[in-house]
Amino acid sequence: MFVIDQSRCIGCEACVQACGECGTHRGTSLIHLDVIDRAATTQTAPMVCMHCEDPTCAEVCPADAIKQNEDGVVQSSLKPRCIGCSNCVYGCPFGVPKYMSALDQMMKCDMCYDRTSVGLAPMCASVCPSQALWFGTRERFEATRTGTLVNDWWFGNQQVTTKVHTVAAEPGAVDVTGTPTTAHWLDDPFGLEPSEARS
Ligand code: SF4
Ligand code: SF4
Repeated sequence: MFVIDQSRCIGCEACVQACGECGTHRGTSLIHLDVIDRAATTQTAPMVCMHCEDPTCAEVCPADAIKQNEDGVVQSSLKPRCIGCSNCVYGCPFGVPKYMSALDQMMKCDMCYDRTSVGLAPMCASVCPSQALWFGTRERFEATRTGTLVNDWWFGNQQVTTKVHTVAAEPGAVDVTGTPTTAHWLDDPFGLEPSEARS
């Protein structure tokens, strides 16, 4: 399993360099390394594709250019199909896909599928000195790391389950956008009202 624990990031950029050396997108680094608030903290946060079980990027793609393979890995866009509309860039709740204007195509992390499919760590995890990016078995994680593995998220009223896990102090879904709205829609054609299971 691939685990990302942003709290361990030290901002060294090793992951950024290693991502650019990946055999499938040589020279182009697709990982995001974000700063939180330079005035308040030195904390930095890497972000990779979380490989959602029901990927919004693929759902909103009008060209059917984003495929999910049998292992649940959501692949980067297919060159012959992608029309560069950036729907996926705006639709991804984690802000992952990048529109590459030189190619007129979206590119994103595909979890180094050439490596992870044969049991090797993704390029970023293979070099991360603080193990903010980590790859291994659940058993090994539980034997060597603290914290609880979490892969459920709430973005407002959208629940997302991901193949990539993060590390939290407590079990339970991560509420990214805070308390969901209590205002009710006039109608609810897409079933977006909070479910009973949420409360
Ligand atoms: S994190 Fe974003 S780019 Fe990755 S599968 Fe989910 S919606 Fe798609
Ligand atoms: S930019 Fe490409 S992959 Fe993204 S939604 Fe548009 S056509 Fe699909």
